[in-house]
Amino acid sequence: MDFNLPEELQMLKDTVRKFVDKELIPVEMHTLENMELKADIRERLEQKTKEMGLWMFDVPEEYGGAGLGSLAQVLVWEEMSRTVALPSRGQGIFGPEIRPILFALNDEQKRRFLDPILKGEKHLCFMQTEPDAGSDPASMKTRAVRQGDYYIVNGNKRFITGAGSADFGQLMAVTDPAKGAHGGISCFMVDMKAPGLKLLTKYKTMMGEEPWEIAFDDMKVPAENLVGKEGEGFKLAQRWLGIGRLKHGARALGVAERCIEMGSRYSKQRVTFGKPLSERQGITFKLADSYVELHAARLMVYQAAWKNDQKQDIRNEAYMAKLFADEMSFRVVDRVLQIHGGIGLTLDLPLAKWFVDQRSRMITEGASEVMRMVIAREVLKKYN
Ligand SMILES: Cc1cc2nc3c(=O)[nH]c(=O)nc-3n(C[C@H](O)[C@H](O)[C@H](O)COP(=O)(O)OP(=O)(O)OC[C@H]3O[C@@H](n4cnc5c(N)ncnc54)[C@H](O)[C@@H]3O)c2cc1C
Repeated sequence: MDFNLPEELQMLKDTVRKFVDKELIPVEMHTLENMELKADIRERLEQKTKEMGLWMFDVPEEYGGAGLGSLAQVLVWEEMSRTVALPSRGQGIFGPEIRPILFALNDEQKRRFLDPILKGEKHLCFMQTEPDAGSDPASMKTRAVRQGDYYIVNGNKRFITGAGSADFGQLMAVTDPAKGAHGGISCFMVDMKAPGLKLLTKYKTMMGEEPWEIAFDDMKVPAENLVGKEGEGFKLAQRWLGIGRLKHGARALGVAERCIEMGSRYSKQRVTFGKPLSERQGITFKLADSYVELHAARLMVYQAAWKNDQKQDIRNEAYMAKLFADEMSFRVVDRVLQIHGGIGLTLDLPLAKWFVDQRSRMITEGASEVMRMVIAREVLKKYN
């Protein structure tokens, strides 16, 4: 068993790390003020990611991406997350966010929906959560009823990121209430300007994200916009969310490592009661605990990614990696913020942003309790 990264993957990790240190960390505080990079900085950095061959690194080569494997993607996500200069969701200067579920589209759908998204001309949102169905999406109520060449959609969705600016939406809706999650939920590509689709409320969140509540009132969706077969939607979405969990885990690694770097440096500079903080066990133990937990999380995330590259089932590993890494990163941010004292609470440092971002990670895209629930099911099955 060899736990060393293959040479080319280590080189990839080092390259992204240098890029982040040189180009992104110096401009990150600007991002903190405006939530986004200035257009001219973004264009220049996008050019660089293209030159590095990392534009759309998570998109298969047949669609014009770099086609990196799972472990390679994890390394890029880890390193790019050492800065707050990039959005906490999405790929930022590494290309448009492409959800793998899009690769399940048929050729005609790919031409209409995937191509313009890949070119960055159109944007997509994902519509699964409802006011009464969050952690348990199988209990969703939004109905799509086939009538001739159309499906008629009625219902509500809540907390939909980017719904206000998206051109297309991926909508999960019930086509057969009797079957529920087992063949009764379908996925549709939807025009966000379609009559019958109404943006209701924009929520303001502590992370600065502003997801929407949406209503569908007899919205007509052409039958050719069905993704895959009727009833396959739930399975497709779960497959995508599984890969998303690895990404969560990888991003948590980057945040935690940068925090440990900051905590270590600050503890050497800051003198209290005549000695630097780095000479106080109460401070250095916080760094030691953080370092140990980061190491454990990294092994979990890398192993799950490696296993995915071997085409093995990673459902359990992905749940465990997301749960542990997300919670680990929040603990690390909290400890390092404490080491910084009052300056840690200011918006002059990225710590306050990570504090709210990493807290949100324990709720979105699979809350910690839901991860534990699924892992517990596996434990009970295994040890009966
Ligand atoms: C900023 C933001 C962006 C989002 N973007 C999107 C998006 O783009 N598209 C989309 O579809 N959704 C999106 N969501 C929705 C998000 O995925 C849900 O909020 C999340 O799945 C949790 O659902 P909920 O809020 O309904 O919580 P609930 O399901 O009501 O859960 C409440 C609490 O109870 C816990 N809990 C639930 N069931 C159990 C149980 N059986 N045992 C123990 N504890 C349990 C949960 O873990 C949670 O802590 C977004 C949410 C936010 C806040």
